[in-house]
Amino acid sequence: MKKFFISLFKLLLPLPCPLCGAETERGFNSFCPECYKQLPFIDENQPECPGCGGVLDSALAVCSLCLNENERPWLRGYSVLEYRDSARKLVGMLKYGNSPELARQLGGLIADKLQKLDLGTDMVIVPVPLNLRRRLSRGYNQSQLLAKVVGKRLRLPVVNAVKRTGNRSVQARRSRTERHRELRGLFSLRSGVQLADKHILLLDDVLTTGATLSAVSRELLKSKPASLRVITLARTPRKV
Ligand SMILES: [Zn+2]
Ligand SMILES: [Zn+2]
Repeated sequence: MKKFFISLFKLLLPLPCPLCGAETERGFNSFCPECYKQLPFIDENQPECPGCGGVLDSALAVCSLCLNENERPWLRGYSVLEYRDSARKLVGMLKYGNSPELARQLGGLIADKLQKLDLGTDMVIVPVPLNLRRRLSRGYNQSQLLAKVVGKRLRLPVVNAVKRTGNRSVQARRSRTERHRELRGLFSLRSGVQLADKHILLLDDVLTTGATLSAVSRELLKSKPASLRVITLARTPRKV
């Protein structure tokens, strides 16, 4: 509990660079310029995969990662970073390091990307829910924190439209069919949520295979939205 209050307190303070601890000027996402330059941003000058937002590494319509998965149920996927090096470290700190305040800097990166994409102002952000056991042990859902930061910056509503009913976690290592089976029935729409004709932006911290995002998307599509897009902070690069 004490840890939790320290974290809450940290949420109110100006933040040093999360990677090197240097004092930063506000307005640079609170990363120092050197560490910012080192972040593994997805190269925006390369053709982008519409499935995951990564660099299109095949001659086909989607990247090799998406090619191995079922067809994405969303209109378009975006991502800010490649999930490697400092991005991996930062997500680890956010998830396992009791550092909810990091959501400010990382959510800031997502907000920057969305500002560049200019997808419109009538979007609703939906964070991917965490299973209850994880949320209780961690004290927060990192995707929800990121969504809050993005929503506040871009003045978009955040709706916790989906709940996770089971405590199972799904292994990325499993085969596509096994993952699909494990994810079945794991998510459901919250009662009373009205998303008909809305433009949904589903937000998560990391896209590994996209199986979780697909399962949540399928639930969200039952609410008959006008469109469904997905954005993640980081996207796992293809294993080489
Ligand atoms: Zn730094
Ligand atoms: Zn892709």
